[in-house]
Amino acid sequence: MKTIGLIGGLSWESTVDYYRLINTLVKEELGGLHSAKCQMYSFDFEEIVALQKSGNWEKATELMVHAAKTLENGGADLVLICTNTMHKMAPEVQEALSVPLIHIAEATAKSITRKGLKKVGLLGTKFTMEHDFYKAILEEHGISTVIPEEADRQIVHDVIFDELCKGTFLPESKEKYKVIIDKLTAMGAEGIILGCTEIPLLITEEDTDMPLFNTTYLHAKEAVKHALEAVLIK
Ligand code: GLU
Repeated sequence: MKTIGLIGGLSWESTVDYYRLINTLVKEELGGLHSAKCQMYSFDFEEIVALQKSGNWEKATELMVHAAKTLENGGADLVLICTNTMHKMAPEVQEALSVPLIHIAEATAKSITRKGLKKVGLLGTKFTMEHDFYKAILEEHGISTVIPEEADRQIVHDVIFDELCKGTFLPESKEKYKVIIDKLTAMGAEGIILGCTEIPLLITEEDTDMPLFNTTYLHAKEAVKHALEAVLIK
């Protein structure tokens, strides 16, 4: 089994979910007392958010590259950035590594393609919804993206940082997200990407009839697939 390197703490609320998922998936595949071989580099999220807010992506890239290289030097065979937003610097991180960086948007795009969908709604931080780095990857897979209107993007973003990343899950915020999902559906979305790793802690399949793409789960699953490749071929 390969060792999975996790860049976590972005926020730790979803890193817990990653840890649970990769271990559960390994146990499902191998049975017995098997669990994932992994390492974690966990950030102080406040420091990263300050860089995001000030637009200091250069420093954020430096920190993300450092984290990834630390994991590689410690023996990680593959690396995950456990957040959608910080895939903004995925190309620089991959460039600095000699082991694979498993890309969250690639894992998500594969799942959307398997379902045969061509147009999806994207929920995430304003950086993920408004910048190009995420949508461009979907586009490369022939998937077009719709995002909420500006006021709704602000709601989605604020709920992430003011509530979900602090472990607060409010029924009224769930309702607001459901309304926004309905609007994306009216805009032609055939499915919804939960493109922030904390959103699946608030919104689940029970909340909507739309197909949901849980990026935390899809990312963790892709990582486990890589980690177990050699073991399962035997
Ligand atoms: N976990 C969130 C995401 O998947 C936000 C964290 C961040 O801003 O890096 O985008």
